Amino acid sequence: MKQVKFGTDIYIGTDALTKLNDFQNERICVVTDNFMVESGMINFVTSNINDSNEHAIFTDIVPDPTIENVVSGVEELSKFNPSVMVALGGGSAIDAAKAIKLMGMKLDIIKEVTLVIIPTTSGTGSEVTDFSVITNKKENLKYPLVDDLLQPDIAILDSRLVETVPPTITADTGMDVLTHALEAYVSTEATDFSDALAEKAVELIFEYLERAYVDGKDSEAREKVHYASCLAGLAFNQVSLGLCHGIAHTVGGKLHLAHGRINGILLPSIVQYNSNENQRALERYATLARKQGLSNSKGKVAVRSLVNRITELRAKLNMPANFIDAGFTKDDVTPHLATISEEALLDPTTKTNPKTPTKEDVRQIVSK
Ligand code: NAD
Repeated sequence: MKQVKFGTDIYIGTDALTKLNDFQNERICVVTDNFMVESGMINFVTSNINDSNEHAIFTDIVPDPTIENVVSGVEELSKFNPSVMVALGGGSAIDAAKAIKLMGMKLDIIKEVTLVIIPTTSGTGSEVTDFSVITNKKENLKYPLVDDLLQPDIAILDSRLVETVPPTITADTGMDVLTHALEAYVSTEATDFSDALAEKAVELIFEYLERAYVDGKDSEAREKVHYASCLAGLAFNQVSLGLCHGIAHTVGGKLHLAHGRINGILLPSIVQYNSNENQRALERYATLARKQGLSNSKGKVAVRSLVNRITELRAKLNMPANFIDAGFTKDDVTPHLATISEEALLDPTTKTNPKTPTKEDVRQIVSK
């Protein structure tokens, strides 16, 4: 038996933020980062919280949130005693808010809260997933937590909030979406339900990501990429991910490089690796390539067209093709290879990869 999970109510469109008006006589804590306050974007939220509620704003979130970040968040939030938590920001603010709720509730410090997520990047899909990625700085480790308590109650998708995302972050987060969709598509747990979500996400990314990158004010492209991010999140929340994320999590703990950028470097090699000597993955990628109009062929030729489309998109987004292009030297990467190979195999997302990798496989993929 497989579960088809749709645990979050999703509100979309330029009037979706008015959903916040439904809250009456609540204690609402907004978890966000300094940029949202300094840029004034916080007003999208505060202007929709009505006067019957009390609200507080917790801004102490750093990119790639750390365990310390989560602990201080629990301490701060316990003083306010919220009944509603609203996370506003990219994956970092969202994951921090989710982990604060999880830790606070597990330790009985925070009581049951309604969790509302308002993403301001189009990438992680974290607004609809029961994942939260937290960094352990001491051990240079990034780790996905998975728990039912992390599943948001409400997601609000208003693509006006992503129009200010700079091109580099648009590219990184968009490549993260493509990776989520492709990994869900070949996951060992994939179903017709997750396929439908992943196929649509891939279609929207191939059609609109470059436009959103070139012109951040292209509202149609922004909206489509924002929805693609959520669709891919819904897909992988059901069937998990694969080796690309397994490697990206451990690499992200060691090299300072955006998560989506790491995925962009690895993704073409992962598609090639998975389709080599694995008939199911080969056929799935080939089917997807045909459905996306990339090829009329079957088998390896079709898979090659998919790999080419990914590398072409990556080049158009001016993203690096390897870790040297990304500004690292061999000496930055080589000392970590043994640990990366071990940790990637232990990462929970690797479990659903269509092929079971060895440490040597991981070493070769990263070394490329
Ligand atoms: P991010 O949240 O780290 O944000 C990147 C930068 O963009 C920050 O400086 C932020 O202030 C800025 N920013 C955010 N919104 C903006 C806007 N509208 N305009 C201008 N600047 C804006 O980046 P992200 O890619 O959204 O999230 C990455 C994190 O999410 C990583 O820690 C990654 O591991 C995690 N992640 C989680 C999941 C999940 O399922 N929970 C999935 C993938 C990745």
